[in-house]
Amino acid sequence: MSDKPVSTSNKIVLQLVVWIPLLATAFAIYSLWGRFITPVDLTLLLVGYILCALGITIGYHRMLTHKGFEAPGWIRGFFLICGSMAFQGPALNWAATHIQHHANSDEEGDPHSPLKSFFHAHVGWILDDFSPDVPRYAGPLLKDKLVVFVSKTFLVWALLSLLIPFLVGYAFGGLKGGIYGFIWGGLVRMFLNHHVTWAVNSVCHTYGGREFVTTDQSRNNLLVGLLAMGEGWHNNHHAFPRSANHGMHWWQIDPSAYIIGTLEKFGLIRNVVRIAPERLAKRRLAADVQEERDVLPGVVLETGTAAALMAGTVAEAVSQAAAQQPPL
Ligand SMILES: [Zn+2]
Ligand SMILES: [Zn+2]
Repeated sequence: MSDKPVSTSNKIVLQLVVWIPLLATAFAIYSLWGRFITPVDLTLLLVGYILCALGITIGYHRMLTHKGFEAPGWIRGFFLICGSMAFQGPALNWAATHIQHHANSDEEGDPHSPLKSFFHAHVGWILDDFSPDVPRYAGPLLKDKLVVFVSKTFLVWALLSLLIPFLVGYAFGGLKGGIYGFIWGGLVRMFLNHHVTWAVNSVCHTYGGREFVTTDQSRNNLLVGLLAMGEGWHNNHHAFPRSANHGMHWWQIDPSAYIIGTLEKFGLIRNVVRIAPERLAKRRLAADVQEERDVLPGVVLETGTAAALMAGTVAEAVSQAAAQQPPL
């Protein structure tokens, strides 16, 4: 974890970003009793939710952090901007935090392990002075001009994600329509996107089944799988971080993988990373630490505490995988 202290202004902003959408959602639900939600509000919420969720799952996570496929600038720019609109921080910070999670998953140095507490894994770590170490964990990404540009202009895209629903609501219903558009398409959408992404960190390291032997507590969770566009198949993801598909069976619904597959079919993206059935079969029986730590080309994960603990955690992981839990 970086020693850089978080500034007071940053701390205030983080508190606001966590609590205001929660209060706005409570207000939006309360307001339903006095005024029914309009089709414009619902459309803004759904379209905003889906675009931001895909920005995180396809853009920030599978494309940027794990290089699960290669894409031309306009597709990369589109997904990274959608990811920025989800209000989860600049792309580079997100990638560095997530690589640090893979490097130390459920060990000392994991930014958000539920072994500390479920609340800490869900949101406490954000409120708790965490600051990402971009050069150390996402160094190769600093050479990518587009990624650096979208990261530096993060605030523009994040604020646009609030302004656009206000303007659309305003166009349909004047000032009142604008305010409700802002609440449903901006703040409620942000609240849902946040908690579903955070659930991958908290729920998917606590509840669910384990198909593959890994050195952490990652789990496959059907509910998070559905809500988070396929990211809930998190044990699969820790076993094969580079894979563009997180669902490894036809019944493991993974909308992000379907979109990636469609873009590939149309020739818009290439070099999509997928795992051969033989490798899947091998990993059901034994851990492969090398594969688990292959998170992003060019990033070599240090083998400190994690390596020293590896022998013990692998043995533990094998016994946990044997005693599989139900998926929810
Ligand atoms: Zn994880
Ligand atoms: Zn990952």
